[in-house]
Amino acid sequence: MKQLRNTVIRTGLEALSRSGVHHLLRPIFAGVGAVFMLHHVRPRRDTEFEPNAHLEVEPEFLRATLQHLRQLDVDLVTMDEVHARLSQRDFTRRFACFTFDDGYRDNRDFALPVMREFDAPLTVYVASDFAEGTGRLWWVALERVIAAASSIEVPIGGTVTRLDTSTPAARQAAFDRMHAWLRALPGEHDQQREISALCTRHGVDEAAIARELCLSWDELKPFAADPLVTIGAHTVSHCNLARQSEASASYEIATSRAQIEGALQRPVLHFCYPYGDRAAAGLREFAATKAAGFKTGVTTRPGMIYPESADHLTALQRVSLNGNYQDIRILPVLTSGIATAMWNGFRRIDAA
Ligand SMILES: [Zn+2]
Repeated sequence: MKQLRNTVIRTGLEALSRSGVHHLLRPIFAGVGAVFMLHHVRPRRDTEFEPNAHLEVEPEFLRATLQHLRQLDVDLVTMDEVHARLSQRDFTRRFACFTFDDGYRDNRDFALPVMREFDAPLTVYVASDFAEGTGRLWWVALERVIAAASSIEVPIGGTVTRLDTSTPAARQAAFDRMHAWLRALPGEHDQQREISALCTRHGVDEAAIARELCLSWDELKPFAADPLVTIGAHTVSHCNLARQSEASASYEIATSRAQIEGALQRPVLHFCYPYGDRAAAGLREFAATKAAGFKTGVTTRPGMIYPESADHLTALQRVSLNGNYQDIRILPVLTSGIATAMWNGFRRIDAA
């Protein structure tokens, strides 16, 4: 189903690109700027089973996006500058800001060199447990469990179900089913318990994943000192904040900031909600982030930045550079705002 959905979206984006309608609608939906959302930036790995491929783009696609924005004469700015322009209502020039979630090492090794070619700043949102090397990237663990097994037994809906994982198509189907099952479990402890049990059963070293993929505190120090780099906060444990108690959510927001500031000895003023969709961040979280003293908070709700975004500085929408749609023909559609506007039923702000 997920593959079908990707194909439908991709076909729609290509059709929009060919139609040229985005040229007509650009003045209405392009807004005053955009905050782009990325995760991994790295060369393509040639494996048939890549259920997390939407979370990675190739360096060449990042370069093409930056070239496209330069051609549009858009300012490439920091999150501080996004905040300043929105607060001062300075919309004389359009802007774009590049943000990277989770603190992956490839952001330093592959994204930063490309950003530097354009003198373009980037913000990297760090989950402090990932930097500590203790955090759990359960979606990667799940991918590795399925890649390692030829079949998997999981207690979906209370009954043990055997899922075939012997072919790439079966592995993708099993991933989609298990991903949905895990995200629907009552608490994140339940999710963690099931993932840990699967890892143990299938010989996956879950604890090593954060150390393998994420920048450590020692690596973050010189990275954060680069004039193009801003480090933001992404909670302590990369939890779904909306599913925490109010006290726990506030702790995750404030403590991630304190830990990053303590480790890097620089102010941390920008926040990013893990998962970041409606089910993970809402009005309570937007208020808590403001109360914790952050200047901005970014969601994964799709959308451009409009003048009225100034009233929702801790609920800013972003434009995903999705690894499933790495096609330079769709870039004009993305920057016209038409793709996200259609997604939102032509509503500009989604912050409630
Ligand atoms: Zn994240």
